[in-house]
Amino acid sequence: MTIEFKNITNDEVTCASCEACCCKLEVILITDTGVPSQHIARDQWGGETMRQLSDGWCSALDRETYMCTIYEKRPWVCREFEMASYECEVERHEQLGTPLPKP
Ligand code: SF4
Ligand code: SF4
Repeated sequence: MTIEFKNITNDEVTCASCEACCCKLEVILITDTGVPSQHIARDQWGGETMRQLSDGWCSALDRETYMCTIYEKRPWVCREFEMASYECEVERHEQLGTPLPKP
């Protein structure tokens, strides 16, 4: 698959100009959305999070396309995370060095 980048400025906050920065955050599983078990990490108290690999990214992320491989079954937290939100821009700033959001 080829992704064309058109008219994307450095200031534009979009997943197309990102490197899945939010997919390095800890994702707690709150509800059962059907995440395949190989992508789930369980702690000693039974808490469940998305498994993270040694590169820091969620194991369900395609490293070449930066796309979620379980999009239809992605956790609730991932569904709620908004592109161009304050949290999104903070992650981009920390990982890509983009400007921090204006207050
Ligand atoms: S939601 Fe934000 S941090 Fe996540 S991939 Fe999109 S632009 Fe990057
Ligand atoms: S489940 Fe998908 S959207 Fe959520 S962190 Fe993993 S790769 Fe990203």
